[in-house]
Amino acid sequence: MTEETQTSKILTQNFVTIPRKVPGGPLNMVGLTRSALRVALIENGTPEKQANMRVGQIWQWIYEKGVRDFSKMTNLAKPYREALEKKFLISVPEIISKNISQDGTRKYLMRIDGGHEIETVYIPEENRGTLCISSQVGCTLTCSFCHTGTQRLVRNLTSSEIIGQILVARDDLGEWPNQEAPKPKPRLLSNVVLMGMGEPLYNFDNVRDAMKIAMDPEGVALSRRRITLSTSGVVPEIAKTAEEIGCQLAISFHATTDEVRDKLVPINKKWNISKLLESLKNYPKVSNSERITFEYVMLKNVNDSDEDAHRLVKLIKGIPAKINLIPFNEWPGSPFERSDWKQIKSFSDIIYRAGYASPIRTPRGEDIMAACGQLKSATEKKRKVTKSSEQLELNKQV
Ligand code: SAH
Ligand code: SF4
Repeated sequence: MTEETQTSKILTQNFVTIPRKVPGGPLNMVGLTRSALRVALIENGTPEKQANMRVGQIWQWIYEKGVRDFSKMTNLAKPYREALEKKFLISVPEIISKNISQDGTRKYLMRIDGGHEIETVYIPEENRGTLCISSQVGCTLTCSFCHTGTQRLVRNLTSSEIIGQILVARDDLGEWPNQEAPKPKPRLLSNVVLMGMGEPLYNFDNVRDAMKIAMDPEGVALSRRRITLSTSGVVPEIAKTAEEIGCQLAISFHATTDEVRDKLVPINKKWNISKLLESLKNYPKVSNSERITFEYVMLKNVNDSDEDAHRLVKLIKGIPAKINLIPFNEWPGSPFERSDWKQIKSFSDIIYRAGYASPIRTPRGEDIMAACGQLKSATEKKRKVTKSSEQLELNKQV
C-alpha cells in the first residue's frame, strides 16, 4: 500500500468514526491518530512540508499540556491558529457529576454527543491510580451478573470519547504540567483499564485508535503494560488486539464448564471455552506481554466450588496467567449473591497452590455504585427523576 492510500484509508476510518458535530462543520481533533491528524491538516490548507511539524506541535498542546484552545498554542503563528479554529474543534466529554467514595474512588458521569451519558471511575491506590474507562454506551451482550448487561447498546463511543475520558480525568486530578500543583510522582493517573461500560472488542477500531493515542510517548504516554483491555471473549478480535494494540489482556472467564458459562457470559454460546482458550495461546508472545489476567466473579453456589477452582487450574494450563477473583458486586434486582469470604479464600488458595497469583479484588467505590459491573446505575436514575432530585440522590450516595 502506498503511503497515500494508507493515510486516506486512515482518514476515511476516522471521518467515519469521529463525526463532525455539524455536518460539514469543524472536525474534532481529539481522537485523531497522528496520521489522520496530518491528513486532516493538509486537507485544510497546511502545506504538506510543514504537516509533520504541525502535528507534533498540536499533539503536544493537546495531549501533553492539556490545552483545549487554539489561541493558547503560542508556538503557532496567529493567522494559522485562527485558520485552525475555523476548521477544527478540541472537544472532550463534559463532566455532569462527580461522586467521591469514602475510599477515594471517584465516579464521573460524563455527557457525550447526542446527550448520552457514560461513566468513568478513578481508583487511587498506594503506588498507582487506575482509570476505568467505558467503550460503549450500554452493551450488546447480556452477562447475567452485570448491571451494564441489563441495558441495551445505545452506541459505540468514538475514539475521541474514549481518549477524552482520560483527558477529562487528568483535568479533574490536576495532572497537567501547567496546572498549579507540582507534578506528582508516582503519576495520579498511571494505569488504564477498559473495564467500564461496554465490550471493547465490539468497538475495535475506535478502542485501538484511542489506545494508540494514550500510548504515544509524546502525549499521555502510558506504557502498553499499564493498559488492560478486558473482554468477555470476542475470539476473532483477540489476535488483532495482540498485533494492533499490544496492551495487557484480561478475560472475563467466570466459569469452568460451558454449561455454566453459557448462562453467565452468553457470548460463550458463540465462542465456547475451548475456542476462547485456543485464541489466547499466542497472545503473550505476539503482544510481548507477560501474563493474561483471568477475571472470575465469585457467585455463591454458582461457580465458586473447590471443584471449579481445580477445573480452572487444569483449563488454563500452559497459558501464562494470573487469576483475579472478583467478589460479586450487587446491584438493585441482581439475581446472584456474593460468595462467602471463606469460600473465596478457599478458591484462591487452590489456585495459588497450583502456582498462579490469585489476588482477590477489593471492591472499590461500592458506596457510590462504582464497583465492577455496577456502572450505569446513576444514569438510569436520571431518567426517572428530575435533575435537582437526581443530584440530591447522587449526593446521598457519597
Ligand atoms: N465487557 C468487558 C469489560 C467490562 S466488564 C468484559 O466483560 O470483560 C469488567 C469486568 O467486571 C468483567 O470481568 C465483568 O465480568 C466484571 N463484572 C461485571 N459485573 C460484575 C459484578 N456485578 N460484580 C463483579 N464483577 C462484575
Ligand atoms: Fe457487557 Fe462486559 Fe457487562 Fe458482559 S460483563 S454485559 S460484556 S459489560
